[in-house]
Parts: sequence; structure tokens; C-alpha cells
Amino acid sequence: MTRYVIVGTGVTGVAAIGALRSLEQSAEIIVVGDDPHGFYSRPGLAYYLNGEIPEKQLTIFSKDDWKHLKIRYISGIANFLDPQKHQLGIDPAGTLTYDRLLLATGSTAVPLNIPGANLKGVVKLDDFDDTRRILSLARHAKSAVVVGGGVIAVELVEGLMARGLKVHYFLRGERYWPNVLDEKESRLLEHRLAEDGVMLHFRTEAAEVLGKRGKVVGIRTTKDETIRCEIVAVGIGVKPRLELAKAGGLATERGILTDETLQTSNPDIFAAGDVSQVLDPLRGQSFVDSLWHPAREKGLLAAANMTGKRSTYTRKVAINVLRLAGVMTTIIGAVGSGIDDDQVSTARGSSETWQQLPNTISMESSANVNHVRLVIGEKTLLGAMVMGEQKLSLPLQEIISSNVDITPIRHLLQPGAPLGQIVMDYWSSIKG
Ligand SMILES: Cc1cc2nc3c(=O)[nH]c(=O)nc-3n(C[C@H](O)[C@H](O)[C@H](O)COP(=O)(O)OP(=O)(O)OC[C@H]3O[C@@H](n4cnc5c(N)ncnc54)[C@H](O)[C@@H]3O)c2cc1C
Repeated sequence: MTRYVIVGTGVTGVAAIGALRSLEQSAEIIVVGDDPHGFYSRPGLAYYLNGEIPEKQLTIFSKDDWKHLKIRYISGIANFLDPQKHQLGIDPAGTLTYDRLLLATGSTAVPLNIPGANLKGVVKLDDFDDTRRILSLARHAKSAVVVGGGVIAVELVEGLMARGLKVHYFLRGERYWPNVLDEKESRLLEHRLAEDGVMLHFRTEAAEVLGKRGKVVGIRTTKDETIRCEIVAVGIGVKPRLELAKAGGLATERGILTDETLQTSNPDIFAAGDVSQVLDPLRGQSFVDSLWHPAREKGLLAAANMTGKRSTYTRKVAINVLRLAGVMTTIIGAVGSGIDDDQVSTARGSSETWQQLPNTISMESSANVNHVRLVIGEKTLLGAMVMGEQKLSLPLQEIISSNVDITPIRHLLQPGAPLGQIVMDYWSSIKG
């Protein structure tokens, strides 16, 4: 009987467990996890933080769901790997052997690297306990400073505002999320935040977190300004958790390197989800995503390949549908420039492909908060940003994902053209 071991109980690990169990009913499946809350919705943490959903709505799996999977669960940190001996060391459970191993260890927030960053009150938004910690601190706090760019920093801003705090938002550069948004989009969201009462500080960097008796009492900027606050919330990016892969001598770069079957440099070890850097043979490059749906798909595929299949991961267009500063936003495909002063590494809830603006023209149509931007390639639509009204979100997701030839409508996509109508008509025509 083959023994499969999976490290990580996020969406990747859980998708893999389900797939393994349905492919091999009698296989032995051992799951190792260091999060006492197991499997829950990480994107949902932002909505728990801002009070839109109760804590129990984050839970995805019931005790019965786990029971049906017939796994052996080991609580602890996997911290030792010997691929030659097929051994995995777990603190505090000890060492076990595996036939096939899946590393689904996800990613973790990059810490703020300035004096005072370990004071009580400096927080991140990675997991369940982080969110509870922020909520508990917010009960006794009056003001907070949020540092960073991308999705998580704004979710922190909104969550802390919703809890009644005065929030200062530090942006290192001239505008919000410049590697993905264009200037108009950044300004639109900044304006929304300012309207809600957020104090935006551009070209501002934290130099030191100030403390008293171990707790945050303020922050000093590189311009030598001091702002009083009890919470410093950090969203400056995430890093794949590579410690275990490195301990086992596996090939790593930004993530654990895998081929298109999600196999690592060792044939009996696979990696999937946020921690993996997966080869896209069509582009001859490998990518790290920090997105829920691709993580799930990779988990399913890795499991199938662990059982001996050789299925290939086909990279889909990266899509995220979310709410940013109260504005419904869909980000599809290649939309950005790749330059971001606020992000020191991959941003959570994002994909590296969003930052690869190819040689294209870009056109947009905006009215108040409703905004659409298309990134148009030689023969295909390469990306789109849809903000506010979401009628075009699905048509654009489908046109971009199916890579259809847009030559018939390319001449119509001129400045001032009725973009919405053209997209809807073309979508209807290709759907038949
Ligand atoms: C606040 C927030 C908002 C987000 N918003 C979005 C969004 O809008 N859209 C979107 O698509 N995605 C979003 N994401 C990202 C999405 O949640 C991740 O892409 C997804 O959870 C990745 O799943 P994973 O299983 O690969 O990793 P994770 O969910 O990080 O799971 C990895 C698990 O492995 C455990 N682990 C790690 N190392 C070890 C070890 N050595 N031993 C034992 N256990 C270990 C970890 O504790 C963790 O439980 C968001 C994430 C957060 C936190």
C-alpha cells in the first residue's frame, strides 16, 4: 500500500487529499499541519476582520468531511526532509517515511524589517490567529498605521476602519498598487479610501515602530515624523514557505521549482499551491501565484500525478474578483507594469502574470466609479481591469481565457468607441 504524505492543510493540501482518496480508496494518507484551525477560507479573513461575516463562516470542512477522507492527521511543523531515505521529520511528532510527498506549505507574510517590529501591536493578516489578534487589539486601540500595497494592505485598512479606528495608510511611492493598476485606477481607489476618512501618506516609509512597555505607541517615518498609534499592520507581500524544501535540498527560486506535472527536483516529491513555482512550457518560464483557485487546481493535479499519472498543469489566465476600497474589481490576465514600491515580494491574492505588461495598446472607458481597461495584443485580448459595474467581467474573463482571435473587432477598439457594447456583441457572437 502506497503511503502518501501531505504537508499543509490549506486549499492545496485539502484538494490533494480529496483527489488522492477518490483515486485510491485504500491508500494510506498522512497529513501534517501546523495551523490549529486546519482548513478555512483565507480570503474570507478580510471579511471576518471588517465584520461582514462571523468567524464560523470561515470554516469550510466539518468534522464529518474530515472523517470521510480517512486520513491520519499529525499536528506539528515538518522541519526535516531526507529525500534519499524518504524521511520527513515533524516537531514534536518525530520522523516518518513516505512513498510520495506533497509540499503544500503555502506562503507567509514578509515581516517589517525595522527597529520595533517585534513589539506587541505589530500585526499581519495571514491566518485565523492573526485576525483574532487584530480584533482583540482593535478593541482597545484608537488609531492604526497600515504599511504596504496590494490587496492585503487595503483589506487591513478597511478592516481597521470598520472597527472604528483612525487609520493612516503609508504608501512608499506616488500612488496605490502601481504594478497592477494604472494611474486612474489608483486614484479612484485612493479617493474612495480618503472619502471614508483614511489618512493617506504618499512617499512615506516607516523607519521605526515606537514602543512603551513592549507595546506599540507610535511610528516614526523616514521623514522623521511621528504618528501615534497602537497598531501597526503590515501588508508588504508574501514569501513561499521554502524552509522544508531547502532542508531537503530541493531546487528552489522564488518558490519550489516544479516541472509542468508539479514534480520537484526529486521524483517522489511534488509541490503545489502558493509555495510552488511551476513551469509553463508554452512560455518557457515558471511562475508563482498566490491565488485560491489555481492553488486548488494544482492540489488536484499534483495528487493525480502522485498516483503515477502524468497530467500537465495548464496555466490559466489569472483572475481575481474582489472588492477593493468598496469597489467591486475584476483583474484578468496581463494588466500591469511590474513596478511597485510597496511590495517587497509577491502580493497575496495576486499573480506574477498580472505584472507582465507586454507590448500592447491599452484602452479604457470610465464613468465615475465604473471603469474598464483592456490590454490589447496583436490578435488577442491579453488582460482587463473591470471596476464598479461588473457586467463585462464574465464576458471579458471568457474572451481572454479562451484566447480567441479579436481581429474582427480590433479596428472597433478605438478611443471613444462604445467599448461595453462591442465586448458584449463579440462575446455573444463567439458563444454562438
Ligand atoms: C487575507 C487574505 C486574503 C486573500 N485574498 C485572496 C483573494 O481575494 N483571491 C485569491 O485568489 N486569493 C486570495 N488569498 C490567497 C489565497 O488564500 C491563497 O492563494 C491560498 O490560500 C493558498 O493556499 P495553499 O494551500 O497553497 O497555502 P496556505 O493556505 O498558506 O496553506 C498552507 C498550510 O501549510 C501549513 N504549513 C506550512 N509549512 C508547514 C510545515 N513546515 N509544517 C506543517 N504545516 C505547514 C500552513 O500553516 C498552512 O496551514 C488571500 C489570502 C489571505 C491571507
